Amino acid sequence: MLRLDQATPEQLREWQTALNEQYKSLQQAGLNLDLTRGKPSAEQLDLSNALDGILNGTYTDDSGTDLRNYGGLDGIPEAKQLFAQIIDVKPEEVMIGGNGSLTLMYFAVQTALQHGVADADSAWIKESAGASIKFLAPVPGYDRHFALCEHLGIELIPVTMNADGPDMDQVEQLVKADSSIKGIWCVPRFSNPTGTVYSEQVVQRIAKLGTIAGANFRVFWDNAYAVHTLQENATALPNLMDYCRAAGTEDSVYLFGSTSKITFAGAGVAFMASSPANLNVLKKHLSFNTIGPDKVNQLRHVKFLKDMGTLNQHMAKHAAIMQPRFNAVLTSLRTELGDSGMGSWTEPEGGYFVSFDSRPGLAREIVKMAAGAGVKLTPAGATFPYGNDPQDSNIRLAPTYPTVAEIEKAMAVFVLCVKLASINQALAA
Ligand code: PLP
Repeated sequence: MLRLDQATPEQLREWQTALNEQYKSLQQAGLNLDLTRGKPSAEQLDLSNALDGILNGTYTDDSGTDLRNYGGLDGIPEAKQLFAQIIDVKPEEVMIGGNGSLTLMYFAVQTALQHGVADADSAWIKESAGASIKFLAPVPGYDRHFALCEHLGIELIPVTMNADGPDMDQVEQLVKADSSIKGIWCVPRFSNPTGTVYSEQVVQRIAKLGTIAGANFRVFWDNAYAVHTLQENATALPNLMDYCRAAGTEDSVYLFGSTSKITFAGAGVAFMASSPANLNVLKKHLSFNTIGPDKVNQLRHVKFLKDMGTLNQHMAKHAAIMQPRFNAVLTSLRTELGDSGMGSWTEPEGGYFVSFDSRPGLAREIVKMAAGAGVKLTPAGATFPYGNDPQDSNIRLAPTYPTVAEIEKAMAVFVLCVKLASINQALAA
């Protein structure tokens, strides 16, 4: 194993020559591989094909309502009952949406901006009187959260992501000092991209943010990977809503989830949860947006996923498909980069990503080099607001979509590029 800090300049030059040769031959191999797509493979999607036809001509829910018709703005009771359990809330705290939780997040942010989190006086744009409105963004994080804010003119303030969640000293200090900070993005279990699971202490402190921030502040708790474990006994997420009840802060949180990565990514069911008071406000505004969601799809999902026992068995089938793919990434990183000092990475217990950190200043170079050898990686910087990774070191690897054979080939290129870029940098120093 090449160890960067122990190598002499002569050794480094030798390695550089050998790696350059390998890189050239990979360039000639005409590869066309892609490690960017955080979406389920066709094999995973096939697990839910029984959704099709499951209703067998019965379109009524338990109360006899014909679900093919308009209405049912906040979802059918059976769906609330089931999805409440995924995100650890009560059914009366749930509202069901369309096929994507991102739409619900956009709707919640836009409503808060324009119409308010409660009455019209609570509209963020009104309260800010033209000054900028800000959100906290634990980094590295999910690019679409950042893009959503940028699109709506909300400024993003990066905060450090620790091994147990966001740096809460930093978060509390910022929120206390600046009342124009109106929200924080959280992906609390198997976060995108680091796979972090928020600890008990962090969850408890997040629940208390409502006591130190202004009344119009909201935590955006995007539990997109709530049940997406890669192994048995994966670290559990403490219950945010229970801590909020204890602190009297139920109004300060919006929780989100969906079945995008449980059933069909493009035809699942999304849901959100909050205090009944918050839901009433959101429902009022939602009624101008739609006459009702796709309740037939809700019922199909209830019939198919049934209960948490069945749902967890279904998720174990996803894990069985995903594990070999994650193993292919991790085996390559461990055997090729091990203790080389050329980077570090996460070994997640769930979720969709492996997060890699190169030596500072190399992520862009590595992504460019890999592209030159036919391997597409998520653009460096994508995991930071404004695409700006100040260390230029984070690269998100997404192993779910390609086959194991494709991942192995792509990872061979990736580790080679990491080595070559690291050695080039060391020799240039
Ligand atoms: N939230 C996170 C953290 C994600 O990683 C993703 C998809 O990659 C989503 C939300 C999208 O969810 P949905 O399909 O429900 O809109």
